[in-house]
Amino acid sequence: MTISWDKIYIVLMKLMDGRKVSKEILLKLKDKVSRMHFDHIHPKLAVILVGKDPASLAYIKQKQKACATTGIEWEQFDYEPSVSTEELIKKIEELNADDKIHGILVQLPLPEKVFAPNVIRAIDPKKDVDGFTAYNLGKMFISTDFEDLAPCTPLGVIRMLEHYEIPIKGQEVVIVGHSNIVGKPLAAMLVNRDATVTVCHIHTKDLASHTKRADILCVAVGKADLITADMVKEGAVVVDIGINKLDDGRLVGDVDFENVSEKASFITPVPGGTGPMTVACLMENTVAAAKRLNNLNP
Ligand code: NAP
Repeated sequence: MTISWDKIYIVLMKLMDGRKVSKEILLKLKDKVSRMHFDHIHPKLAVILVGKDPASLAYIKQKQKACATTGIEWEQFDYEPSVSTEELIKKIEELNADDKIHGILVQLPLPEKVFAPNVIRAIDPKKDVDGFTAYNLGKMFISTDFEDLAPCTPLGVIRMLEHYEIPIKGQEVVIVGHSNIVGKPLAAMLVNRDATVTVCHIHTKDLASHTKRADILCVAVGKADLITADMVKEGAVVVDIGINKLDDGRLVGDVDFENVSEKASFITPVPGGTGPMTVACLMENTVAAAKRLNNLNP
């Protein structure tokens, strides 16, 4: 199939380019980090990786690259899948007590035999740069003033909308997917910005009746082509958070990009949309944590 240059141009005009926006965030952070060096503060991220899941390895590589770009130091602790919950908690307690470590990240998913909630709970909330602890999630629910360490993917979505000057206040937002790391915190962050938010999930009756009302549609499910053009309002802003690897190796989101992009006023691509924004926000949180731990204003 051939696509006309006109169509390519129109789609490019609508694209919310996560690679470009995240690069801008990383370059600003690089500047901040080098200024922190004058105060002898060297932001450092500790990363715990269990096993060798290919997707986790790919995510880790992107995070490590972003650390290299910004000047954030990186230390990785690799464990076999046989590791116990207690061993991981012991390492986290060591990292909590280490003044040179400002951020702790446990790459998810963990093997089934590890009890992930206890591992996450062990992280000092001040170093919880993924924003997954109950303390940071609870604070984030109160208001935008308390989003000190907010979860990186929802934060990345907010940063993307802000960058493209997409109004949130008063808008009908529909989120598809209600996970603890994406859908639910994103809903809270958007409510705190005065959007009217509907959250859909696997038990939602007639998904399309909701998605068709959305001024801003955010999709985080993990099912390729879940959202088709007939489910989207003309002129909607579409944020595709899903990441799916097809049998032929291609990465796609949850949205039928080719057809939905014709109706959307703005749309994120996959790859190159919310993924790089998540990584940039992880770096932002690490720098903010390093500043706060050293009693500097973030
Ligand atoms: P998750 O924990 O599996 O959550 C998926 C959500 O989608 C659940 O709320 C689930 O409902 C709902 N769902 C499943 N099938 C559905 C359907 N047919 N219609 C409506 N809702 C449905 O996944 P997650 O961790 O939130 O990740 C979601 C996707 O985002 C994945 O593709 C993941 O790879 C991607 N992701 C991307 C980034 C990024 O940086 N771009 C970051 C994190 C995750 P139930 O729980 O009721 O089944």
